[in-house]
Amino acid sequence: MTSVTAATVAGGTATIDEPAVADLRGKLQGPLLRADDDGYEAARRVWNGNIDRHPALIARCTGVADLMAAVRFARDNSLVVVIRGGAHNAAGNGTIQGGMLIDLSLMKGIQVDPVQRIARAQGGVAWKEFDREAQAFDLGTTGGTVSNTGLAGLTLGGGVGWLMGKHGLTVDNLLSVDLVTAGGEFLKASEEHNPDLFWGLRGGGGNFGVATSFEYRLHPVGPAVLGGMVLHPMAAARDVLRFYREFCGKLPDEAEALVALITAPDGTPLIALILGYNGPIDEGERVLAPARQCGSPVHDAVGPLLHAVRNTLLDEPNAIHGIQRYWKSGFSRDLSDGLIDTMVETAQSFTSPPSAILAVYIHGAATRIAPTVTAFGLRDVQWDVNLISQWTAPDESPLHIDWTRRQWGKMEKDLSGTAYLNHLAGDDRPEKVRASYGPNYDGLLELKRKYDPTNMFRINANISPAAP
Ligand SMILES: Cc1cc2nc3c(=O)[nH]c(=O)nc-3n(C[C@H](O)[C@H](O)[C@H](O)COP(=O)(O)OP(=O)(O)OC[C@H]3O[C@@H](n4cnc5c(N)ncnc54)[C@H](O)[C@@H]3O)c2cc1C
Repeated sequence: MTSVTAATVAGGTATIDEPAVADLRGKLQGPLLRADDDGYEAARRVWNGNIDRHPALIARCTGVADLMAAVRFARDNSLVVVIRGGAHNAAGNGTIQGGMLIDLSLMKGIQVDPVQRIARAQGGVAWKEFDREAQAFDLGTTGGTVSNTGLAGLTLGGGVGWLMGKHGLTVDNLLSVDLVTAGGEFLKASEEHNPDLFWGLRGGGGNFGVATSFEYRLHPVGPAVLGGMVLHPMAAARDVLRFYREFCGKLPDEAEALVALITAPDGTPLIALILGYNGPIDEGERVLAPARQCGSPVHDAVGPLLHAVRNTLLDEPNAIHGIQRYWKSGFSRDLSDGLIDTMVETAQSFTSPPSAILAVYIHGAATRIAPTVTAFGLRDVQWDVNLISQWTAPDESPLHIDWTRRQWGKMEKDLSGTAYLNHLAGDDRPEKVRASYGPNYDGLLELKRKYDPTNMFRINANISPAAP
């Protein structure tokens, strides 16, 4: 039996002796893993295979009692903690080098109340699991567009998805959060209980504690909605993107439109209009018709389907865990001609077939809430523009990462200087992280100093309590 050396909040390391580790193990129902334990290797990995970190300890928690014990252990030993929900954060904020990983991915409880139209879900639930339970009652809420993304991290950062035009962001449908603070205290956050914390959890990310469960408002989504892709050859990309920009400007709240520059499995470069409508099917057919009639599509797969199935349309290859990735992101308010040109030039020089450019139009109810009502402060009508490089051979990483940085440098000059919090990259400048909290940064800083003064939870889009 050996001691464990782990990173501390003061910036050094602490050696924790075996009896203390054994004591924590005895308090947990789930496994506590160290580097030489079975299961450690799989448990340290995240969605992005390019992230290669070794936590000193991994607490795989099965419930709130485990979470409180794990956080109190970290508190008593002054450890830096990373919180994992679905492990999907592209920057690798679901794992840590040298600190303690508190992993909720075994916590899968979901309860739907179809009468009240409310659902409760634990912090380890993925959207496909949530969607399945809610869809059983033809209900849903705004959630991720790739089905195995974690509900916890996505919600705390804002939540951009298929229902946002009609029903707002995920945080706009959040009714309460149960949380274990850095002090190891269990709190409920809602409009009635700890409303300051509830405000901060709706867009402030994982800065304030471990969210054990979430309560959401549900909406009718069925029995069917409209969704699917219209594909054009890459040669038409400039025209399609210009059309798309104008089309988005006319969308009613019920409609959603994304665009992606991709490579088909047979190697053909394509541009995809990814469309959805949340209302009567015939009305949706009429609203989406211009996007299906523009130019000369090579494929049109828009049709009625389940909301839960629509949330899987972008799964390939994005749901696969372990591929190498490097992801840059930023908001654009106008999708200018200059940006369109650079997007097309970038897509024409992808260094790896699974790479993509994805733009998500944020509009409607998601943008009509005043910026300070929730911590998600960037409520403009805008596009979330992403350059997502994906490849399989780890030794090719420098090639793909260098290319992505170069191309992103060209795209970024036509973007707004902010990004969706959940899409920030690990190497984004601190000014960009700060700007991405919009007008709410100072309020969030105050909250961070109250709920996590030692910055135990710092592996995130961090709000440092030591900031001036
Ligand atoms: C392929 C792909 C598709 C995506 N699609 C969408 C999309 O459609 N819409 C959208 O809004 N976002 C999307 N995202 C971004 C997504 O919201 C973030 O990656 C988010 O961090 C994922 O949450 P997670 O729980 O899986 O993250 P993890 O990697 O597990 O955790 C990331 C961070 O989230 C916080 N966190 C996680 N769980 C908890 C918890 N229980 N308590 C407190 N903090 C916690 C922590 O700060 C943690 O460091 C996508 C990401 C990927 C990779």
